[in-house]
Amino acid sequence: MPPVSPPSSLRSPPTSGARTTYRLRVSDVSKIVCHRLQNSTEEYLVRWKIAGGSTNTKSTIYSWHCISELSKCLHYVQEYIEKLPKSRPDAAFVAIPAAASRKRKFSSDSQITGSSSSSGNLTPRDWAHVSREPSVISRKDRGEKGTCPVSGVTAEQSNDPAVQEVDARKLPDQFMLKDAAQAPVSAAERAIQATFQAKLRSVKNTEWENHVDNTAPSLNFTFISDFVLGEGVYRSDADAHVGCENPCRPNMGQNLGCEYPRDCACLEYAAVDKDLLKEGDMARYAQYLEDWDTDGFLADSRGLPKRFPYRVSKDRIVPSTLMKFYLEQRYPIYECNLNCDCGKVCKSRVVQKGREVPLVIFKTSNGRGWGVYCKEQLVKGEFIDTYIGEVLTNEETNRREELAGKDKASYLYSLDKFCGDDPNNDLTKDNCYVVDGQHMGGPTRFINHSCEPNCQQYTVSYNKHDLRIYDLAFFAVEDIPPRTELTFDYMDQDEAELEDVMRKREAKAADPAYRDKQRCNCGARKCRWYLWE
Ligand SMILES: [Zn+2]
Ligand SMILES: [Zn+2]
Ligand SMILES: [Zn+2]
Repeated sequence: MPPVSPPSSLRSPPTSGARTTYRLRVSDVSKIVCHRLQNSTEEYLVRWKIAGGSTNTKSTIYSWHCISELSKCLHYVQEYIEKLPKSRPDAAFVAIPAAASRKRKFSSDSQITGSSSSSGNLTPRDWAHVSREPSVISRKDRGEKGTCPVSGVTAEQSNDPAVQEVDARKLPDQFMLKDAAQAPVSAAERAIQATFQAKLRSVKNTEWENHVDNTAPSLNFTFISDFVLGEGVYRSDADAHVGCENPCRPNMGQNLGCEYPRDCACLEYAAVDKDLLKEGDMARYAQYLEDWDTDGFLADSRGLPKRFPYRVSKDRIVPSTLMKFYLEQRYPIYECNLNCDCGKVCKSRVVQKGREVPLVIFKTSNGRGWGVYCKEQLVKGEFIDTYIGEVLTNEETNRREELAGKDKASYLYSLDKFCGDDPNNDLTKDNCYVVDGQHMGGPTRFINHSCEPNCQQYTVSYNKHDLRIYDLAFFAVEDIPPRTELTFDYMDQDEAELEDVMRKREAKAADPAYRDKQRCNCGARKCRWYLWE
């Protein structure tokens, strides 16, 4: 077997002068497996990724690192901390900023370092034999107290009697676990919170807060501002969208142009306004109803009066709101686009302008994880934000679901509104695209479920010929006071009568098939008790 080289970042062991710049690379870390307090410094035991992908064999490399060395790998530390028992001595909430926790007293160093196996650095004894030899622990002194020495990365030959061999398969051992049960994680928590804060800086009009504990949302999450297309997902360029022309024009007055209910080409497939039908429209309307049976939302409604989607105030001081018909019927909303002649002032441009309301991601106090509220009053019908993420093929979605299990469903949103409307019948629920907001998305990804929600998701299209990709836009379905948690129904069910809900949920609770189903904790009067049915 050829000698195995150490990971390249280890080839020149950093000297003490390089401490401030030394960082573990994400690609070198497999997992964080334990932590301890060493000379008043929190340290985390890193299991290294070894070439060839083997994990936790006898020759796996481990080393202890302080938080500053792990600044690129903090999501690993976060995963580790989240799995620690919640009854830990330092698990009590410390307000942000948590600097005070630094001064809290913990078990003395002598107690913590008293065990024989965790009292020093873990060092790979000889890199040339790294694939065969067990990891070793050096009992040598750590040097200056309270500093952050680079530990466990020097490739020393160990004939030093102070170095003790350990079997890497048995790490962390019982002594390490005992130390870990006493050691704080507050330095890590502060670093994780600061890192999340820095990530959030790129997101306009968004804050976060946590008055409940010391956690931060997952660092394994990237804020994006538009869909990220996965492999095999295609979308037409915005330049290629068909826009509206005459009579739509930039200088149109009120009730003209795109609001002229018959002629705007962007409203070609919009809902027909029955109240505005005239005698001469009836034959055309009968044809439309016939088309509806085969083409659904694509039924040809040219020449018929349409429902305009938004109510826009003249001075634009009052927010634009979605018309009652769309709010209740959830009919697709067609907005104008880049190639329309109407121009920027057209009232058919709301969602495309993006979010204007300030959102706050916050930790809920009743165990429902992170939630979202708006700092300002929202009025019924007001646009909030869109749901974005990676757009995936159905196959990729299935693959991810199998890997991640049932919780994954919370972040998946099928773009299936137009299934069955495709003239060739190509678009079905089994091959439509799916938006996955788990690892990439916007603040709306943190909105919780409620069986009685105050927001709903609506279909907004800028390209009436693209049935596969459209915007998922959240609108307020009632007036929402400032700082009220925003919710939507993950199951997207229609509103039901309370008695009906009560009867159904009691039947479910008595049904053994529901015993293992995920419970809903939304707390709504009409809660269905189970999230996925
Ligand atoms: Zn128009
Ligand atoms: Zn327009
Ligand atoms: Zn248009």
